[in-house]
Amino acid sequence: SPMRYKRLGTAGLKVSQFGFGSWVTFGRQVDTGLAKEQMAAAFEAGVNFFDNAEVYSDGQSETIMGRAIRDLGWKRHEYVISTKLFWGIHEGVVNMKNTLNRKYLMQAIDASLERLGLDFVDLLYCHRPDPETPIEETVYAMSDIVASGKALYWGTSEWSAEEIRAAWEIADKRNLRKPVVEQPQYNLIHRARVEVEYARLYEDLGIGLTTWSPLASGILTGKYVDGIPEGSRASLSGYGFITKQASDAALIEKVRAFVAIAREAETSPAKLALAWTASNPKVSSVILGASSVAQLEENLGALEVLDRLTPELCARIEGVFA
Ligand code: NDP
Repeated sequence: SPMRYKRLGTAGLKVSQFGFGSWVTFGRQVDTGLAKEQMAAAFEAGVNFFDNAEVYSDGQSETIMGRAIRDLGWKRHEYVISTKLFWGIHEGVVNMKNTLNRKYLMQAIDASLERLGLDFVDLLYCHRPDPETPIEETVYAMSDIVASGKALYWGTSEWSAEEIRAAWEIADKRNLRKPVVEQPQYNLIHRARVEVEYARLYEDLGIGLTTWSPLASGILTGKYVDGIPEGSRASLSGYGFITKQASDAALIEKVRAFVAIAREAETSPAKLALAWTASNPKVSSVILGASSVAQLEENLGALEVLDRLTPELCARIEGVFA
């Protein structure tokens, strides 16, 4: 099945319905050589959207992705790339951590572009909301970054519906560039924000979605049903919340039932979970994560499952996690 390209909400930009991101992997499990192989495989399959963030491996993820793109010789018009700002990478420096203030945003975008080796990113996200900066200050700064050409579009990640609407309305009232996209977690285990909390935003504001952790960090592949395999994400230090989820007996029982349904449907749990996420019409792009080329190739196979995902099958798997 060929890749489809969907508009980012009502914006004109089109992104592949599966994108590829670098959280946890680039700089920790994936070096520049493997990153290049993965990105080449994704691109070959029609992926045009590559997701990154300043904070991923403290900037190394941007450096690796930028170098991979240069080594692969991709032309700037052939791909869409994002980064995200909020956490900062300057430990202990006032104004540079956990913020969306103007000073941080203006300096952080320049440093990200330098690491990526690019003149602009296509999408720039506010990685989290910042309760200590007025939304208006952030909207002005993001709008100025877009006006300067350092980003083509801007959006938010894990902002509340109320915060997204406030930002959009400030931009509307002040004739500034509006946020066009939100990046929330969305998978069979985490549905409420996308399906309930944001329900009115899609039509009212024209917001598109690029969604993260479609496999709940790998849990939906079924890889944790018999414990935590060596080298898996839940085995890594620094991801205690994932280790906890991966060993949650009640959740693992549901995953077991889900794995059985996937087998019955003659596919893999990973592909079924990914196809389910991509089938939501509000989702512009499902961002894939992978620590190997084989995982990425399996996951891109979700395209075939999308074609045969029936409402009955969806209802069954939703029932398991309800
Ligand atoms: P997933 O939920 O799909 O988890 C990906 C991980 O699951 C892989 O790295 C791998 O981990 C495991 N995995 C994937 N496929 C398979 C497979 N077929 N078989 C077995 N194991 C598999 O996505 P991510 O959590 O990585 O999120 C995707 C992207 O979303 C990120 O790269 C990032 O760009 C973005 N993101 C954004 C956030 C935000 O706040 N805006 C937050 C989190 C992510 P392993 O092999 O190590 O077990």
